Amino acid sequence: MNFLDELYLENKMSGTSTGTTWLSGKSKKHLLVSSPVDGETFAHIRKATVENYEEVLGQANKAFPVWRSLPAPRRGEIVRQIGLRLRDFKLPLGTLIAYETGKTLQEGLGEVQEVIDICDYCVGQSRMLYGMTTVSERPDHRLFEQYHPLGIAAIITAFNFPMALWGWNAMIAAICGNVTIWKPSSRAPVSAIALQKIVARVLEQNDLPEGIFSLIIGDRDTIGERILEDGRIPLVSFTGSAVAGRVTAGKVGRRLGKTILELGGNNGIIITEHADLKLAVPAVVFGAVGTSGQRCTTTRRLFIHESRYEEVKAHLCRAYARLKIGNPLLEANHMGPLIDKNAVKAYQKAVKNISKQGGTIIFGGNVLKGDEYPSQCYVEPTLAEVADHLPIVREETFAPILYLIKYKGGVEQAIALNNEVDQGLSSAIFSTNHNQIETFLSAKGSDCGIANVNLGTSGAEIGGAFGGEKDTGGGRECGSDAWKNYMRRQTVTINYGTTLPLAQGIRFDIE
Ligand code: NAD
Repeated sequence: MNFLDELYLENKMSGTSTGTTWLSGKSKKHLLVSSPVDGETFAHIRKATVENYEEVLGQANKAFPVWRSLPAPRRGEIVRQIGLRLRDFKLPLGTLIAYETGKTLQEGLGEVQEVIDICDYCVGQSRMLYGMTTVSERPDHRLFEQYHPLGIAAIITAFNFPMALWGWNAMIAAICGNVTIWKPSSRAPVSAIALQKIVARVLEQNDLPEGIFSLIIGDRDTIGERILEDGRIPLVSFTGSAVAGRVTAGKVGRRLGKTILELGGNNGIIITEHADLKLAVPAVVFGAVGTSGQRCTTTRRLFIHESRYEEVKAHLCRAYARLKIGNPLLEANHMGPLIDKNAVKAYQKAVKNISKQGGTIIFGGNVLKGDEYPSQCYVEPTLAEVADHLPIVREETFAPILYLIKYKGGVEQAIALNNEVDQGLSSAIFSTNHNQIETFLSAKGSDCGIANVNLGTSGAEIGGAFGGEKDTGGGRECGSDAWKNYMRRQTVTINYGTTLPLAQGIRFDIE
């Protein structure tokens, strides 16, 4: 496969790098990586040992004082060069993402573009790590805040955005002066190795030491959990399921480390009686089937006003019938496979539960069989009519299953339905009615971290802070002031006078 050669990827590779050096280690354990597109095993990755882990930590510790002493805009310049190099490799990188995860080539290319965009964003941000200045209550005193890097930031990522999640975290952490250790998902590790090779070239060209950007691929118990418990790592940015997020919060919390948690979603769209269906229908379809329903922001619940219900249902059934499912590297296909057979099992279980719990599958519900679907990971995008209270509706099934739920009454009713699940990531309303839109955006409106109007739940731009509330973890990454999460805040008071007045007017005379 040409794209693997273009990215200098071999069939057998180490999964651990301190920057430019790949650690060989004594590990006999290999991770066999197969593609959900064709089921072929295309990489054998040597898993990290505990000794490899210690080497990575040691190099990161040594690199931190060097990296933090570079002026932030100089760190931004390194990130700029990473972005330039990514541009040169956009096509093979996008192809690799599609082949490794099963998302479409368009989405794979979009993901690389997202990393390029975040690099560009970080170049500017590296000149804007500003703190607030305020007034002191004491005479001849100055009060202000400043931000300093934390040290080693560990980045643990989910399989579904095998490059973007690193970009969001590592590029921001880097301009803030941190060194990073990335533990990617074992379900999409080759994308991580490809990125590391690109970064390595930039580190080499700039004569930078080992330990600034490290990669470690290994088992959960030897590597993943070790990171969570390691007091040398002040920040763990974790993206994954709520179940694993709880473990992360517990273990890092016990040692009073910092976490950024980006966990699962169960995202809803409200279609009111005033919706423009020309906008709503394509947004719902892309939101529900894009990335085969494996985005944290995938549309899973659709609340349709009773007056528009049959119309929306008919539109969706027509659109679903036109969807082409197959090899995601072929431009004509809208949807590729799920990530692996376990994901297919979860899809099948959910489909069974929908019927068992009283819902009705109105489209799809089957695993696709035949020569066109060699990996046995392809499923039909699925529409189900359900009552909102079904337990299955409250779960995040990471698959293209969309629940159609009819609501009566005002927009408040739909908002209540949207808010009643545990997750709180993304939400949207389709309406042309000002009152409904503003109610949705008000304090009594959507309780999610993302609230969109007349666009779908997925496909966030990098300029905003990304993340969600409740079981989604409360973390924020990417744009806006999310960079502050990667730094420690320091409040500084300077006395430039000749007396020592105490705050709150407290008197303490020792003469
Ligand atoms: P997952 O929870 O199985 O794994 C995520 C990462 O955590 C992997 O690298 C995995 O190896 C690691 N991990 C899991 N348990 C661990 C433990 N005990 N200790 C240390 N590391 C551990 O998630 P997944 O199946 O890869 O991804 C899908 C999930 O991620 C979905 O719930 C999705 O909504 C969520 N997600 C959230 C966002 C967001 O920004 N909110 C983005 C992408 C994906």
